[in-house]
Amino acid sequence: MPKALDPELKQSVAARIRYYNELGIYDFYRREAASSPAVQDLPESVIQPEQREEMSPRRMAAAARTTPDESVLEIISNKPEYGVNDPVKALKIIREDLGDCTRCVLHQQGRKQIVFGVGNPKADLMFIGEAPGADEDQQGEPFVGRAGQLLNNMIKAMGLEREQVYIANIIKCRPPNNRTPERDECETCSPFLMRQVATIKPKVIVALGAVAAKTLLAINDSMSNLRGRWYEFRPTGARSNDPNWTSAKLAVTYHPAFLLRDPRQKKEAWKDLQMVMKELELKAPAKAAQ
Ligand code: SF4
Repeated sequence: MPKALDPELKQSVAARIRYYNELGIYDFYRREAASSPAVQDLPESVIQPEQREEMSPRRMAAAARTTPDESVLEIISNKPEYGVNDPVKALKIIREDLGDCTRCVLHQQGRKQIVFGVGNPKADLMFIGEAPGADEDQQGEPFVGRAGQLLNNMIKAMGLEREQVYIANIIKCRPPNNRTPERDECETCSPFLMRQVATIKPKVIVALGAVAAKTLLAINDSMSNLRGRWYEFRPTGARSNDPNWTSAKLAVTYHPAFLLRDPRQKKEAWKDLQMVMKELELKAPAKAAQ
């Protein structure tokens, strides 16, 4: 049975949960063993993020969800876009929540603008890359530079148009000198992406490159091991308001920027896309380039 909470502790727990909610985190998991008296005093449903980080994905998946204190539950379930059925409006709410975001250091490292995501809000297929580059930062849209042109060609080769899919990145601000995003930046930003996924409810997600694949799957493995198979993907901390959608199928392929550097791998990427086409019953146009 959950312990009655000290009012002061309850207030600070509520404030902490509100903070997580603002980041789009609504689900909390119980750790198997409490490591300090402070943790033992918290309701079982509330675990600090630094403690959650210590869990392996498998342990997180197996972690038990418990019944929190009722007033705390009220705050947990307060998800702004959850009751909105129109995905255009729901995405707008998420974008407004993001605001002129200063949640991670990238807001003060030369970004021109936030690159939220673009495409069909009801897309069956979603592409998720790593981070905006210079062109994306300039134009406020993901995948618009040379890599974007290649992604457009890949989409066309699958028998689709760019406007039919949804395209986003793990993080929404350009890292300085296009460096690889840090883990804490991915973890701070990705809750908003999770909410976008839960709103769009795609059938299939294609993770473009190692950073996207590792962040989405919470698996640290090589691209050669990650590619060529399906994963079940449930957006962490964000629930869809459609009872018929709980997860998407996720495939991993190379980032188009990598394919520009090493065009020999295009054939491998095409195999990944064919796997996706089969799943979505797409047919390549007669002259699809590989
Ligand atoms: S990368 Fe994401 S979390 Fe960091 S400042 Fe930009 S929008 Fe905010």
